[in-house]
Amino acid sequence: MGIKMERLKRLGLTIMILSLFCMINFFTSVFAEEEKAQLLNESVQVSLDEKAAPTSIIDNKLATKYIFETEQTIKVNSNTPIKSIYILFQHTNNWILLYDKQITSCGLYGFLHEYVELTYEQNTVEMKFPKDTVICDIQIYSKGEVRSTVEKWQPPYEDADMLLLPTHADDEHIFFGGIMPYYAGQLNKKVQVAYLTNHKGEWYREHELLEGLWHVGIKAYPVISEFKDLYSESLDHAKKLYNNDEMLAYQVGLLRRFRPEVVIGHDLNGEYGHGVHMLNAHLLIQAITLSNDSTYMPESIKKYETFDVPKTYLHLYDKNQITMKIDEPLTSFHNKTAYEMAKEGFAKHKSQTKYFKVEDKGKYDCRKFGLYRSTVGLDKSGNDFFENIKIEEKPVVNFNKEKTESSNPVTSSTTQVKKEAKAQESLLRTIRGPICVILGIVIILFTLKLSARKRNRLNR
Ligand SMILES: [Zn+2]
Repeated sequence: MGIKMERLKRLGLTIMILSLFCMINFFTSVFAEEEKAQLLNESVQVSLDEKAAPTSIIDNKLATKYIFETEQTIKVNSNTPIKSIYILFQHTNNWILLYDKQITSCGLYGFLHEYVELTYEQNTVEMKFPKDTVICDIQIYSKGEVRSTVEKWQPPYEDADMLLLPTHADDEHIFFGGIMPYYAGQLNKKVQVAYLTNHKGEWYREHELLEGLWHVGIKAYPVISEFKDLYSESLDHAKKLYNNDEMLAYQVGLLRRFRPEVVIGHDLNGEYGHGVHMLNAHLLIQAITLSNDSTYMPESIKKYETFDVPKTYLHLYDKNQITMKIDEPLTSFHNKTAYEMAKEGFAKHKSQTKYFKVEDKGKYDCRKFGLYRSTVGLDKSGNDFFENIKIEEKPVVNFNKEKTESSNPVTSSTTQVKKEAKAQESLLRTIRGPICVILGIVIILFTLKLSARKRNRLNR
């Protein structure tokens, strides 16, 4: 009888321990599921002006597009409440989001990849798009954290710390390599990217450009000029392809608008000899002088004032050289290095990877730059673009989608509170797992001790 009781007790204890572990697992997985937003595209009903919508709108493919020949409304019904919408446009205009009694103006900044979060969850939302809008894809999400590839762009900065001036989509990774992951992603500097040419002739490159920038930690939407991408093998030839005065005015406009402490430009020899890379660098060295000249483009001074760029670096420039450290682990990117991130960013340019690569040595070494002009003295350390720069405490600019919010200190503080709440939530999420485990162990030990005591008493 005594042995039987002992066995029963042991069995009971084992069942209790197993149930405890199951409970911990169950709660951890429930919490984990709550954190992630679900992509609802497969379960939602989508209509276009009350008729069945073409599948191209929600087929998760960029290549299939829907062109709005006239103003039309897309309506989405979902059994699972909708919390956010992510739209990949090929051509965007101002559009309207409607749900419950809310009317929101969207598309204000012309983002080709636009993420919109609803104030509260809804089962039905409507989107009214004007004529000429072209949509590649719409993604509908439930509440929670959306996948990291969803790009939540902020408008271009009002006052940037650093301005990067690539010519084409992909130059920013190939030639400027680790700058974006290190300064924007890791150090949280305001890095603005502005391209000299556009790729409207190759629609997929506009998407590759955004995916690549987002991947390496750029948060402000890039500026893309109206100059077409044209090929050239010399500076003289490139000069004939474009209106040089217009291009120079574009560059001076960028410097005055973004007021960057550091500007990064191309190699004067065009990297691998591309004439438009050369033109970009040659115009830049004129632009940095003209930007501070009040007689040049006086109409732009009314808007932005003159600006003297403190430091201008050119890739591979042979004087005052610095070599960027790009092989140290970056905590913002799960300990990947800036070089690894540069390669991953470039890999988003799927149409270009067979022609080029990011290199940390040799002729096109993405680490090597020279200080072309400085108003703050020469570098001593030789590996930091911000050496001798003191960035003043600038007022916090709120980059929320609603334009009105950026000038409203009340909503700015609301955003701050939201940010703090988010940080607390993330801390709670991090410590919840270990707490559950410790609690489990304590309960088990306590139960074991209790049964041992009972056993002792019985033995006595
Ligand atoms: Zn290029």
